[in-house]
Parts: sequence; structure tokens; C-alpha cells
Amino acid sequence: MGKRAYNFNAGPAALPLEVLQQAQEELVEYQGIGMSIMEISHRSKEYEKVNSETQELLKELLGIPEGYKVLFLQGGASTQFAMIPMNFLKPGKVGSYVMTGSWAEKAIQEAQLIGETHIAASIAADRPLYMPSQDEIELRQDAAYLHITSNETIAGTQFHKYPETGNIPLIADMSSDILCRPIDASKFSMIYAGAQKNLGPSGVTIVIVKEDLLQDAPKTIPTMLRYSTFVKNDSLYNTPPVYSVYMVNLVLKWIKANGGVAAMEQKNIEKTKLIYDAIDNSGGFYRGVVDPGSRSTMNITWRMASEELEKAFVKESAQHGFVGLAGHRSVGGLRASTYNAVPYESCKALADFLADFQKRNG
Ligand SMILES: *Cc1c(COP(=O)(O)O)cnc(C)c1O
Repeated sequence: MGKRAYNFNAGPAALPLEVLQQAQEELVEYQGIGMSIMEISHRSKEYEKVNSETQELLKELLGIPEGYKVLFLQGGASTQFAMIPMNFLKPGKVGSYVMTGSWAEKAIQEAQLIGETHIAASIAADRPLYMPSQDEIELRQDAAYLHITSNETIAGTQFHKYPETGNIPLIADMSSDILCRPIDASKFSMIYAGAQKNLGPSGVTIVIVKEDLLQDAPKTIPTMLRYSTFVKNDSLYNTPPVYSVYMVNLVLKWIKANGGVAAMEQKNIEKTKLIYDAIDNSGGFYRGVVDPGSRSTMNITWRMASEELEKAFVKESAQHGFVGLAGHRSVGGLRASTYNAVPYESCKALADFLADFQKRNG
């Protein structure tokens, strides 16, 4: 096998090598059935096992208490932006949103199509990027829910302390940081995540929802956009993205075999410290754009003195085997996405490259 790239892609993103190798082994013949998992019915006992085992693994790894359902949907996290207000935003209520960046904004825009929204907090433009703290978030008693974006993938900000919302259901988009650390799942009424950042390939969206949130959704919601359809049919109402769910299953087993989410957190802190230290110790050659208290362990963002220098950095990094270091096209700059599956060695190599590039260009 050739050398694997130092993959810092933001999404779809790196998958654990062991997972890819197991998928490769099982690709043509899955567990002695004479076919691949992609060629069998989603109602076969083999797929039923993948379906239920993946739900159980998510519950176990995230510590999901009784009273929640784990669902596998399609349409990406972006479809959740619409499904949440469609199912939960009832007349006379407002959908409350914490406006933290590009992804929060997209969620808000969808909710505005459906019902009345309320911006519970918004980040100030004249400060380094950050996540609002509890006292900056306005909780309204007529809120159907409070929606937060756990990790802003483009900005590189992450909540390190989730807001306390009392009796207001808390809904979190964890697309880019689910399973990166232990959480108190009981604080959330719903958690959702597109798989392609920290969970597996694209094609499946994980929804973890508290059952009491599902009562009396409007009758006019199309079948495929109702959470209750997926609850009633164990995510098998129509054909699920079988291969994506299978890959998520393998990734979850990999997390479990590697010590679970507490071990992931430890590793993520070590990995990102290498890169943040290289930025902080560069004497301003690299400039972190996020307030240290809100720095993400999943997406590290920084700038350099000029766009020319940033372009040169990306170009040279590619020649050294690094992939995905250009910032999102909407904001520019640089970004390294360091999801669970990104090895320590890749982060070490990037930290060394940061120092090296500075020596040659600083
Ligand atoms: C990538 C991303 C999305 C969009 O996910 P899709 O699956 O492409 O719809 C939403 N929220 C966050 C935080 C993301 O990182």
C-alpha cells in the first residue's frame, strides 16, 4: 500500500485506516453470505443486526439514557435544519437559536421559512471568534426549543460548556464534534449529526431524540419528514443508506476498541495542542482567529500575514503530503480538521511543517 495522505479534510473527512481495511476485507463477501452488505435486503437479518447494533453502540458510547430513540435519516444535517421546526415549532411558540456562525445561520434560515424564530444570542463581530456563555443567552419561556451548533466547523469554535436551558428542550447540531468527548446526553432533547465528519461516510444522518419531544407533531408534515415515521419503523420505513450505516457501525466499534469517548477526548487534546502550540509559538507568523476559551478540538483555524502567503502555505503543504488545509471558501485562511480518525502522527507532521515553513518564510 502507498503512503496515506495527511488528511485534514473538513468533510467528508478521514476514516480510521483499520475501519477501511475491515470494510475492504468484507466488501465482496460479507460474513460468509456470498454477497456484499450492499447487495442484500435492508429487511434481512444481517442488516437488521447492523441497524440495531449501531443504535446500541451509539447509546452506549454517548451514554444515552432511557426514553430516547436513535434514528438513521438521509438528507444530511441540512435536512434537519428544516425537519426540526417542521416537527417541533408549533403555533404560538418561537424557535430559539444561538447564532454562532455559518452553520447556525443555515439552521435559522430554514426555521424562518416554517415559523417564528428568536435569536437567543449572537456573536459580536468586533471580538475574536467565540461561543456565547450562559449569561449571554436569552431564554424565552415561549421557546419550543433552543438550538445550538456544538462546533462551528468553518469558524473553528466549539462549546466547551453547554447552556443550561431548564425546561426548554435543548437541540444540538453535533455534525462536526459528536463522539469527540464525553457529554451529559440527558441535557439534550435532540442531538443530530451528518456522519461524514466524525462518524463515517456521508449518506446517513444520526438523530438522537427524546421521545416526549415527538408528541403531537402537525399532521401535515410529509411522511419522510416526520421523526415519528422513523421511530415507528425502526429507521426502516424506506430503504436506508445501508452501506453508510454499516461504516458508522465499524467506526463506533473502532472508538469502543480504542477506549471510548473519554480516550478520544484525551487524544484530541494532545493532537490539537501540537498544532495550537505551533501557532501560538510562531510570534504572530500564524494567527489563531478564535478566542482560546472557544477553540475547537475538531477544526483549527488560523490566518497568515497575506493571502499570498496563505496560498503558498497550502501549495507547499500539498507537496509534502498534506490535504485539506485551505480554509472554507467563504472565509479563506487556513483550517486543519482533526477529527477522531486523524492520527497523532498527522498532527505531529503538521506541527513540524508549520515550524519549518515559518523558518523558510518568516
Ligand atoms: C457539515 C455540517 C452541516 C451540513 O451537513 P450536511 O450533512 O452536508 O447537510 C451542518 N452542520 C454542521 C455543524 C456541519 O459541520
